[in-house]
Amino acid sequence: MRMPVLFIGHGNPMNAVEDNAFSRAWIAIGRELPRPEAVLCISAHWETDGPAVTAMPKPRTIHDFYGFPRFLHEQQYPAPGSPSLAERIRAMVHGADLRLDHEWGLDHGTWAVMRRLFPLADIPVVQLSLDRTRPPTDHYELGRALAPLRDRGILILGSGNIVHNLGMLAWENSAYDWAVEFDELIKGRILAGDHPAIINYPQWGDLARLAVPTNEHYLPLLYALALQEEGEPIQFAAEQVTLGSVSMRSLRIG
Ligand code: ZN
Repeated sequence: MRMPVLFIGHGNPMNAVEDNAFSRAWIAIGRELPRPEAVLCISAHWETDGPAVTAMPKPRTIHDFYGFPRFLHEQQYPAPGSPSLAERIRAMVHGADLRLDHEWGLDHGTWAVMRRLFPLADIPVVQLSLDRTRPPTDHYELGRALAPLRDRGILILGSGNIVHNLGMLAWENSAYDWAVEFDELIKGRILAGDHPAIINYPQWGDLARLAVPTNEHYLPLLYALALQEEGEPIQFAAEQVTLGSVSMRSLRIG
């Protein structure tokens, strides 16, 4: 059986612990999933020079944020890693170019979502970094190369945000017109299966510069879309812009 693929808009780290529309949407997505052998997460919060994959047996929970309540900093997500999966990925996609990492762990792009999808923390998790030296099209191609994992029970999870402009954050229940416009534009391209347009997002000029001022939160979407097979259905969840400039849109493929 082929595993679904997810892209989750993670937004505010507090979504890891708050009961809100987003955390409830993630819980609902988790309940519908078949149980995976392991999860491979591509998180916005791990950028490297040259690609890397976590290969430690016990990844630490990384609290990579500041100024949040102590309760959030105390959260642990003690899921095991999977050195064997890391090795398999390295063999599949990059040969010797993909570095096996023993330092990182699970950043909040991963664990904030994982603790809602799989609260028991009993499924092995591996992270693949975002190689910041590569253009969007290379990230999409790398995503395609991961496709065989779906047939081996691996759930691939992209964690980012389609619109993410921290410099323009506003009050919680607000949404800039440009943020909604870009989010809807991307939704339309996703439904049309027009992945080249999504990869080539700078074509939208000022709109793209506002919505994607840096692309680390956008790139995980490309990994998820690259894994969509011909005619595979997509379901959207959490279709909302929050904090003015953060799209929480999430999706399941397959
Ligand atoms: Zn983030």
